[in-house]
Amino acid sequence: MNLELAEQHKLIVENCKNLLSVVLNEDKKVVTEIMNKSQLKVENYNKENYTIIDANKTELGRFTAMVKRIIMGKYVNALFNSLEEPKDAYDYDYLCEKEEKQLFQYEDYEDDYFYEVKLFCKNCKKKFNERLQLEEEYRLKKEAIVIEFKKACDDTIFPDALRARKISLIRSIVVKYDPTELQKKLGKEIHNEVFSIFVAQNKELLTKYNL
Ligand SMILES: [Zn+2]
Repeated sequence: MNLELAEQHKLIVENCKNLLSVVLNEDKKVVTEIMNKSQLKVENYNKENYTIIDANKTELGRFTAMVKRIIMGKYVNALFNSLEEPKDAYDYDYLCEKEEKQLFQYEDYEDDYFYEVKLFCKNCKKKFNERLQLEEEYRLKKEAIVIEFKKACDDTIFPDALRARKISLIRSIVVKYDPTELQKKLGKEIHNEVFSIFVAQNKELLTKYNL
């Protein structure tokens, strides 16, 4: 069977599904027969050509999610760990003696103490604000990394054949979350390929972060 004919069978299946939701009960049987016949043709085409021509949205979404999981898991966590986490502005370990004494008095009313920041001396207030600033910078840095890597994942071009292998693997795993040894091996191979394709297409980004 050629691709053109297989695509036609795919279209028939889709249209039968729509038709089934509106068709008269007495006609359901015949529509189902047509649908099953074409479905079988599509499946055979997939099998013979080691491809998937009828991937649905969920399956395509799972491929994209897998790419993000692999790439973010590897790089983003490493980058987060390399960033120095700023000290909490509310740790108050920078307070001068006067303020420290005051803090002592307020200790029982910890929540109220936050409002006393405005009463800090000039120096302590400055330190407090510096820490807030560093916390904000830290948050923005992390956010920028996530956005950059997510975009890189979306922009990376993966071959259709690889996508088809992943989806056919998903379909072959009958018991969810319980793949056979062979399926695990195939999954690992796909994982490695996704990884090398990403590295090859994102050299600039990886160099930027010394990865
Ligand atoms: Zn002070």
